[in-house]
Amino acid sequence: MPVIKNVTCPICGTFCDDIELTVKKNVVVDVKNACAMGEAKFLNYCNKHHRNLKPLIRKNGELVETSMSEAMKKSAQILTEASYPLLYGWSSTNCEAISVGLELAEEVGGIMDNTSSVCHGPSILSIQDLGISTCTLGQIRHRADLIVYWGSDPYSAHPRHLERYTAFTDGRFQPSEWKRYVSRLRGVTGKKKLERASELVLMEEVSVPPITGQIPPTLEMEKERKLIVIDVRKTRSAEFADYFVQVEPNKDYELLQAMRMLVKNEELEVDEVAGVPVDVLEKVVDVMIGCKFGILFFGVGLTMSTGKHRNIDAALALTRDLNYRTKFVIMPMRGHFNVTGANIVSTWQTGYPFSVDFSQGFPVYNPGETSAVDVLSRDETDAALVIASDPVANFPRIAAENLVKNPLIVIDPEKSATALMADIVLPSTFVGIETEGTAYRMDSVPLPLKKVVKPPKNCLPDEKILQRILREVRKLKKKARKT
Ligand code: SF4
Repeated sequence: MPVIKNVTCPICGTFCDDIELTVKKNVVVDVKNACAMGEAKFLNYCNKHHRNLKPLIRKNGELVETSMSEAMKKSAQILTEASYPLLYGWSSTNCEAISVGLELAEEVGGIMDNTSSVCHGPSILSIQDLGISTCTLGQIRHRADLIVYWGSDPYSAHPRHLERYTAFTDGRFQPSEWKRYVSRLRGVTGKKKLERASELVLMEEVSVPPITGQIPPTLEMEKERKLIVIDVRKTRSAEFADYFVQVEPNKDYELLQAMRMLVKNEELEVDEVAGVPVDVLEKVVDVMIGCKFGILFFGVGLTMSTGKHRNIDAALALTRDLNYRTKFVIMPMRGHFNVTGANIVSTWQTGYPFSVDFSQGFPVYNPGETSAVDVLSRDETDAALVIASDPVANFPRIAAENLVKNPLIVIDPEKSATALMADIVLPSTFVGIETEGTAYRMDSVPLPLKKVVKPPKNCLPDEKILQRILREVRKLKKKARKT
C-alpha cells in the first residue's frame, strides 16, 4: 500500500508537516505522527453523514438537489444583486482560494472578513501599532530555553505544539524538558499511590507532603528548557509547567504591566497583583530575565479577555522591555491552519489583513465597524457567502439571526450548522486531503498542502468554485451594463 510522507495536517495553526498516510483504494487507512484531532480528520473526512456531497438549493423552504452549474449561477446572481454582501470565513482553505475570494469581494462591492476578526484580530491591531519581535518555530525549537504560554492551552488546542516546537522537543542547542516531566509525573503518581495505600492500611485520610516543583527552589536556569503557563485556571498544559501562575479573570493587563515594572527594576508597592503574590511574580520575572532566549506564546485567553488589544499592547511592550535584559520573542497561537494565510493574502491584495470593506470601490479597513459580527449585528448586509467556516454555531445570536435571514451561500465540504441554514450549498473538497495548495503556519512560514486522495464526484476545490462564480458575476455585470 502506498505511504505518502511529509503530509501537512490541515487542522490547527501548528500545521505539522511530518504526517504519514497509508492510502488504499483512494481511502486513507492509516495515519502516523498526527495527534488525535489530526488522525480523526484524516480517517473520517469522508463520512457521508457529515459530508456535503451534492449541490443543494432551497426551494419552498427545503434544501433540494440541484446541478453545480445552477447553484453557481444562482450564487453569482445573489451576490451581484446584493448591495452589501458579506464574504466570510477563509481560514480553513488554501491561499489560492482566498486570493480569488478577494477578487470576488471587490467585484461585488462587499465585505471580505476572515475568522481572525473573532480570535486574533486584537493581536493584529496591536502588532500594527507596536511592531513585533518574533521568529520561526524552528528557531524556537533549536534555541529557546524558556517557553511561556499565556491564555493558551496547547495540550488541548494545538496538541503537538509542545512536542514539535517547544518544551518536549530536543533542539540542536536545547534538550527537551521531557525527562524532567516524566520524573515529575512519576513523583505525582507515586504520591497518589502512597496516599491510597496509607488510607487502605490505616483506614483514615493521610496527607503526604506535596511534591515540590511548581515553583523551583532555584532561580538558576538549568540545562533543560523551562515552561511557564499563565492562565485563569489550571489547564492540562499547566500541569506540565515548571511555573503555573494563576491570574484572576480579566486582570491580564494589570499583571503584564506589573511584570513590565519588575523587568525595569521598579518597585511594586502592593502585596499581590491580579491575584498573584508579588514574591511569586518576582521569581517568574527573574526566570524570564535569566533565560538566554525566551518565547511568549499567547492565545485567545489574552486577546478576548477584558482589555483585548490593550492586553496585547502590554504583552508586546513586555517583550520589548525584556529585550533590554536578554533575548525574547513573542508569537500568537493561531487557531485554524491557514488563518495566518488569510491575513497575509488579504494584506498582499488590499493592504489590510481582515475586515476589508469594498463597498466604496476601494478597500476600507475599520475593525469594529467593518468586521463581520459588527455589520451583521447592525443588520447592514443583504446577502452572504460563507466558506470553510461555521458562523451560525459561534457568532452572537443577533449576528447569526441576521446572517440567515438574507440569502446565504455556503461553500463547505462539511454539513455545518451554517450549511443547514443556507439557501445554496456548494460541496467543496477538503483542502490538504483532496486538494493541494499553500497555507501559512502560525509563524508565517508557507508550506504546501498535499492532495492524497481523489475527491468525490460532485465536489470541486474552493478555488474552482470561486473562479466560476466570479466569471458568472462578471458576465452578469457586463450584461447589465449593456442593457
Ligand atoms: Fe494536526 Fe494540529 Fe494535531 Fe499537528 S497538532 S497533527 S496540525 S491537529
